[in-house]
Amino acid sequence: MSNSRKRLNRREFISTALAGAASVGLLNRLAPAKDFIEAAAPVSPAQSGNKMTERKLGKTGIVLPVVSMGVMNADNPELVKKSYELGIRHFDTAFGYMRGRNEEMLGKVFTEMKCRDKVVIATKIPPPGQRDAQKAKEEFLRMADTSLKRLQTDHVDMIYIHDVSAVENVHPAALTEALAQLKKEGKARFVGFSTHSNMAACLNEAARTGFYDVILTSFNYAHAENKELSDALANAASKGIGLIAMKTQCSQYWYREGLSNVEQMYYQGAIIQSAVLKWVLRHDFITTAVPGYTTYEQLSEDVSAGLNLALSSEEKKFLDDRKVKLAMEFYCRQCSQCASSCPKGADIPSLMRTHMYASCYGNFYQARDTYDGISRERGLETCASCDSCRARCVHSISIPKRIDDLKALFG
Ligand code: SF4
Ligand code: SF4
Repeated sequence: MSNSRKRLNRREFISTALAGAASVGLLNRLAPAKDFIEAAAPVSPAQSGNKMTERKLGKTGIVLPVVSMGVMNADNPELVKKSYELGIRHFDTAFGYMRGRNEEMLGKVFTEMKCRDKVVIATKIPPPGQRDAQKAKEEFLRMADTSLKRLQTDHVDMIYIHDVSAVENVHPAALTEALAQLKKEGKARFVGFSTHSNMAACLNEAARTGFYDVILTSFNYAHAENKELSDALANAASKGIGLIAMKTQCSQYWYREGLSNVEQMYYQGAIIQSAVLKWVLRHDFITTAVPGYTTYEQLSEDVSAGLNLALSSEEKKFLDDRKVKLAMEFYCRQCSQCASSCPKGADIPSLMRTHMYASCYGNFYQARDTYDGISRERGLETCASCDSCRARCVHSISIPKRIDDLKALFG
């Protein structure tokens, strides 16, 4: 490994990551919840009766406001309640988020609020590791039942296979059988998959067969020039697949790694969030987005974007700013183009996603779970710390630097 790279120790990496996450408000959930929130809760236009733009979710017929809640990073029930009060109706969670506590929190909140029939709940089940198809199906169904129990409901509106990134994994027989069974038994109204990488190919494969009702996909301003992806999204939507966008605000990478301190201060302004969120929502093929907000300010800002999708002159200026475009080079698009660049076979895209959860979201549970999903032969233990790392990002990400960070975290 090159000596020119300074390796952070675990403590340094965690404090850097936490400082970064705190700078974008991701750690406010650690504040004393209720008092903090009520003091900070701004009045949103939604409270005065305005409604967010609504769209139909493909062939499901479900109509949703364009802004939903990605619950992954939130562990504060009051934030969920406030979201509902402000008009949010779709809540996206997963079997693995916060080791199940995320689903449990949602179940408790909706039971207390007696609003289960007014909300749309989506959860994701990870593909089981078993090679035996029957066992994989049974395990998937068992996890789905666990999710329903945690969510205190007899059905979810959408259930996804979590994290599909290869075309051959879009229709695994064991899991499509399990999904069909969940639908038949009334445990899931609609079925789909989530995809973080190789999205265009996975979307096209789903559009080809028509098995899926919905797809949750990464889509954000970093993909602005990715015609293959926008064509695939339009194609899937034209076949009646409901499309939901995640990672819409790119986890703010652009001002954490790409800009000077002065510029970072400038770009921490609220305008960034509304501009990039609106950029996604101005694509009609996207029904709704699930931004992972964790504070009242972020919630209010996201809802306000959903109330008026027109770009203000400031927002236009921001999106046109070359510095913003350059800085977005530091966001890992999960394009998988580095997938075979490590001669030892390390799973670089998954490692880079692990890094994103840790360093940017400050969500070490999710980072750990993502890392645990990488097979042993393709994880950090595989990395031989070569003098000169041959893993290459086709954009501007320093893969060796991020691998060093992960070693500090998990080593
Ligand atoms: S590290 Fe670069 S090449 Fe690899 S998935 Fe991320 S953006 Fe793509
Ligand atoms: S990621 Fe691969 S190429 Fe890079 S240092 Fe590790 S083993 Fe070497």
